[in-house]
Amino acid sequence: MREALDLATSEKGTDPANTPIAALVVHQGRVLAKGVNRTAEDCDPTAHAEIVTLRAAGKEAGEMRFEGATLYSTLQPCGMCTMASIWAGVSRIVYGAGRGDVHEMYFEDRHLSTLDYIADAYKDDLSLEGGVLRCDCAKLYFGPEDDVPEEMQAND
Ligand SMILES: [Zn+2]
Repeated sequence: MREALDLATSEKGTDPANTPIAALVVHQGRVLAKGVNRTAEDCDPTAHAEIVTLRAAGKEAGEMRFEGATLYSTLQPCGMCTMASIWAGVSRIVYGAGRGDVHEMYFEDRHLSTLDYIADAYKDDLSLEGGVLRCDCAKLYFGPEDDVPEEMQAND
């Protein structure tokens, strides 16, 4: 997680307006791939840090599944990224800041957590662990009580 934190700030800086999110895939004891969110840079709504990293991991591994891998992310993954992890054979997701630690703008769903839903549906295949370096990760983002102007809530 420390490596993900360092990557987030080295690639995206420390301004929460730049949404510094980083992810790593660790497989068979080594970092297979790492990446940061590139939604704004690539005009790609699917280019979340976790998706960018899973794509890079697939290229590095030369296959689409890396059974038993662990995905690390500085922020609780969304439903899309969690589901992509399952498709990739990831069996463990570890994240830093959770839904309650940051502004609601970071999550597309307002009344339920897609991560919770998927975690329940795939509880035999996937374990989830949140809050690793929680405070350090949460500092990268707007807090739950921060008054973020509407035009800055693009989360990209
Ligand atoms: Zn995502």
